[in-house]
Amino acid sequence: MVNDSHPVTPSLEQRDRDSLLHPFTRADDFAAGRVPGQRIVQSASGIRVTDAHGRSVIDGMSGMYCVNVGYGRQAIVDAIAEQASELPYYHIFAGASHPKAILLAEKLIALTGGRMKRVFFGLSGSDANETQIKLVWYYHNVIGKPQKKKIIARQRGYHGATTMTASLTGLPNYHSGFDLPFALVKHTIAPDAFWAPEVDPRAFSQRCADELERLILEEGPDTVGAFIAEPVVGSGGILPPPPGYWEAIQGVLRKYDVLLIADEVITAFGRVGHLLAVDGYGIEADLITLAKGLSSGYAPLSAALVGPKVWQALQDGARTHGFFAHGYTYSAHPLGAAAALANIQIIEEEGLCANAAEVGAYLLQQLRERLAANPLVGDVRGAGLLQAVEFVAEGPPRRRLDASLKFSAQVAAFAMEEGLLARPLPVNDIVGISPPLMLTRSDADQVAEMLQRAIARASAMLSADQRR
Ligand code: PMP
Repeated sequence: MVNDSHPVTPSLEQRDRDSLLHPFTRADDFAAGRVPGQRIVQSASGIRVTDAHGRSVIDGMSGMYCVNVGYGRQAIVDAIAEQASELPYYHIFAGASHPKAILLAEKLIALTGGRMKRVFFGLSGSDANETQIKLVWYYHNVIGKPQKKKIIARQRGYHGATTMTASLTGLPNYHSGFDLPFALVKHTIAPDAFWAPEVDPRAFSQRCADELERLILEEGPDTVGAFIAEPVVGSGGILPPPPGYWEAIQGVLRKYDVLLIADEVITAFGRVGHLLAVDGYGIEADLITLAKGLSSGYAPLSAALVGPKVWQALQDGARTHGFFAHGYTYSAHPLGAAAALANIQIIEEEGLCANAAEVGAYLLQQLRERLAANPLVGDVRGAGLLQAVEFVAEGPPRRRLDASLKFSAQVAAFAMEEGLLARPLPVNDIVGISPPLMLTRSDADQVAEMLQRAIARASAMLSADQRR
């Protein structure tokens, strides 16, 4: 019986369920305490996070693909604190600015080798992609092609959660319930080589380009304004592009004067082994979206990098089409800008791009070796430290496991018990990992071992029938 003079204090978990509306979380299950993996993270250091009960695990997801330099970086904390003392906030509207915004914009332009001409700052990947779409529309108005307003995205792409960026996102579960996608958004096929019938990946790349061309022709080339894509698909399944993919795709875009928006929210700042993935994959983008690793999540910040064509239109259009009436109170927030400058310095000084490439290749090889004997493991793939394991039914032929088994969620739950945060992705049966970029080989051994054990435990739970 509850003694009223000593009321039972509800747990943080209970108070969380009773007060928050969580992103991308089933409201009914969660309120009833039925969502596995509920955790209250209290502190973090290096590659580990610690929950409110003092349990520490390896954060195999770098938060949400963002804490590229790992936790507890005093240099970033100091930069934020100093900035907060000196100038906690100022805006950059209509001629106003502040020194950190300038330094960071210069730095980002320099990172593109001067190919990008201006930087527009925001706070999240979603708002930066919103900015990109408005830039595309404005551009086509100014150059006298106002009908070129449709945007082509890809199935399995993830570009954000606002109404437009959720429309761009190619995951049907994120559309139903909201009457999305908007009619101006079209989706072409995902670069998913694993399920493609082609044996030769280059033939598959060519089919992706042919499909894109078919869609542009079907819609009418004079109505298609831009193509948006992640250099490596992230949340939608971690899909590195098959060989020849970007070359073939860009050929089509050039042929029909379609702008290219490279959504580098996950891929930049070392995640796939390069400061900018566009450089690694030979992508010549008109617009580049940055967020996440830009500040390693220490403060919210995003950036839309504007290439020469669009920059020219912004200057030409001001008289004829009205100025670019767009921006956010917190565009180039000084705390975010200070955090980003300190963060990029760490990435450069510690060579974290090269480390992600090197340790990433090692981790991938470890996972491939350890998982090779498990018939439920269909594919182990990745780029840098963005990697995935995709599960299938025992074959041949190649088939998916019954979705109701929720196999990847079970793997992630066991991984958590083993001491590793990994993420079941919202499509097929895929577990993703995206650990901080200063991961060492011995950290990678631990990650691979924990994931191997989790997969073995989940596999052992399936009956012979369920495995087929
Ligand atoms: N683009 C990509 C490629 C992303 O991965 C994400 C977030 N996962 C976004 C855009 C949206 O970013 P945010 O959640 O910061 O709005």
